[in-house]
Amino acid sequence: MPMRWLFESRGREGRTLDAQMREAGLEPARARWVIISHLHDDHIGAAASFEGATFIGGLGTAGKVLGLSAPRWREVDFHDTRALPPFDASLDLFGDGSVVLLRGGGHAREDVMALLALPGGPVLLTGDAVVHREWLHSDDVERVAVDSQRAADVRNQVRALLVARPEVTLLPGHELQGAPGSRGDVTLHHPEWFKAEAWPLSH
Ligand SMILES: [Zn+2]
Repeated sequence: MPMRWLFESRGREGRTLDAQMREAGLEPARARWVIISHLHDDHIGAAASFEGATFIGGLGTAGKVLGLSAPRWREVDFHDTRALPPFDASLDLFGDGSVVLLRGGGHAREDVMALLALPGGPVLLTGDAVVHREWLHSDDVERVAVDSQRAADVRNQVRALLVARPEVTLLPGHELQGAPGSRGDVTLHHPEWFKAEAWPLSH
């Protein structure tokens, strides 16, 4: 996939997820759980650093893509799970409300979002179900999505959540504080991938 069409990052030495964790005093190998938002290359590159973790991903995602097998791989099955309005399917991972998984399914079929109850307040990790804030606040169509209508529906659900619960901190898949002003190497909301006029006629 020509990622440079979506964002034109040159990459940065020492800024991988595992490197940033160590910088913050966290050891990736000691992590017990890793939630994979979806299986695109730019979201799984540091997986090998989490050698002690069980990986969780959406139904239909293959653990073998990550070189994992049971018991290190667990698929989320949203069938028969309850709605958590505005979201249509949710799964309380540990049964205590600390990590609630939410179904995406527009950007990639296996999209999983996670609503975390952290001491500092709730945080929503969307992966690329919300690629970036610019798209969240637009009505543009995500053309890179496997299902543009579903992607828009999920985007609207996230919007509704943020209206109902303004205390939730949103972390989109490609959040870049202050970008593009502070990141001359990054282009957000590239017109090749996000277009207002791109809806299929049937919609
Ligand atoms: Zn991405």
